[in-house]
Amino acid sequence: MAMRRARVQSLPAGDLYRRVFEITNSQGIGWAANSTAVLSDWGIRDWVNWQIDAPSNNLRSYKAHVIQQVREKCLLEWTVGKQSSQLQIPYGLISDTPSSLLQDLKDGGYPWSSLLHARSFLRLRCGALRLAGIGGRQSEARFQDCIFCGATVRNSIKHCICCCPRWLKWRTQFLHMSGLSVDMPRDELTLCFLKCGVGDSCLCIVLAWAYELELDTVVYWRAIGGDQPA
Ligand SMILES: [Zn+2]
Repeated sequence: MAMRRARVQSLPAGDLYRRVFEITNSQGIGWAANSTAVLSDWGIRDWVNWQIDAPSNNLRSYKAHVIQQVREKCLLEWTVGKQSSQLQIPYGLISDTPSSLLQDLKDGGYPWSSLLHARSFLRLRCGALRLAGIGGRQSEARFQDCIFCGATVRNSIKHCICCCPRWLKWRTQFLHMSGLSVDMPRDELTLCFLKCGVGDSCLCIVLAWAYELELDTVVYWRAIGGDQPA
């Protein structure tokens, strides 16, 4: 969005598209004004203002600037959220740095479906999918009931990956593609799942599995009137 604004504002001064953009922006209407508000919310300087301080800068360096700003803001929110979370954040078990999975998938030429599925995988690793609850309600309790099979579990992700009967088909494919054994320690098997990345033969299975996990999770909480965290 920031780059789209920058490209429009880089058009020749008499360009009709640029003129309409500038008029609607100044009048506070339409996409131009709405995107100004988004930039403001994120604390990101608009292309025009940013370029005043460094006229020699180009769109490429502006893009790097925007990405850096977004990363810093997201990292701060992630760090604060992780420290204040009552529940264990799965991704915290495998890394202290932001994930580059989506970029790795793009660089690796993976199809759009993999990118879509990867969002579910990232949300799963962040603990955003409520795989368990108590009495049909979301809970911060230490032991909760799996929403898929009803078993009382302490670690819902480990349960789903290693032994929940609902996910037998996906587990079988995951083990087959990864060469891992269902008999290995469950903590290790779960970590192998969570660490899965570009270059791993089981990656597409893991991403598709995470996608279906999210779909079923959303369906469950909607059906009982609960809220699946955004
Ligand atoms: Zn289960």
